[in-house]
Amino acid sequence: MSHHRSPGGHERSAALDEAVDRASTRTVSSHRLPPPPSALRGRIVVAAVAVGAFAAAGAGQTLQAAADDSKDVQLTNHADGAATFDGMGGDTASAPQILAVSKTTSEGSAEAAKMLRSQQMTAQREAAEAEKKRPKFFRPAAGDFTSGYGGRWGTMHLGIDIAGPIGTPILSVADGVVIESGPASGFGLWVRVQHADGTITVYGHIDSSNVREGQQVKAGQQIARMGNRGFSTGPHLHFEVWNPGGQKVNPLTWLNARGVTV
Ligand SMILES: [Zn+2]
Repeated sequence: MSHHRSPGGHERSAALDEAVDRASTRTVSSHRLPPPPSALRGRIVVAAVAVGAFAAAGAGQTLQAAADDSKDVQLTNHADGAATFDGMGGDTASAPQILAVSKTTSEGSAEAAKMLRSQQMTAQREAAEAEKKRPKFFRPAAGDFTSGYGGRWGTMHLGIDIAGPIGTPILSVADGVVIESGPASGFGLWVRVQHADGTITVYGHIDSSNVREGQQVKAGQQIARMGNRGFSTGPHLHFEVWNPGGQKVNPLTWLNARGVTV
């Protein structure tokens, strides 16, 4: 039982060494350590703190201190033991030098909780700022503007056409909810998205849809891929804007008014 190291050549009484050794041998056991003689208890606690890092708990709980890297000293801290611990560094003239006493674990966890709250508030503020900066309107697809809104070949063309390769991503022009995703007469397949003010945007001739009815979509989110289905003479997107009154308005005017050029 003389394997206990004495850091820095620290002189200790044989009785204290014996008591610390007794404590050390119980570390791995879950049994409660019988309390050492009360005269020694305070000194053991102080010695354990003095030789290494420590973590302290409140009265009636277990005090655990690291004696060195490989060994823990565990002491059962009864009510009077807690008083001894709290009082150390004060009036005990015979106590060994105290190296460092920082915080109890309850103060430490309160500090950690405070830090976590602060981090969460920062994350929320950053998310709100990102939301404010996020573009709210998008061009529905890259490609060539091939046909505008209005009269064409003696009929009314009630949308705009953007031509590009099959599979070109088609984006929702604004936040909204998918109200239709599937077959549509003339358009082959289409997606319709309703926006907060009641406006509906229509994406026709698509090759395939990425969304389902009822799905929330964000401005700029891909909802479909460009195709050549329905009455179409080449791969393109036919895009319409229905105002809250149900009228098909000029999509170019609508997009331009929202800062989007096509
Ligand atoms: Zn068209």
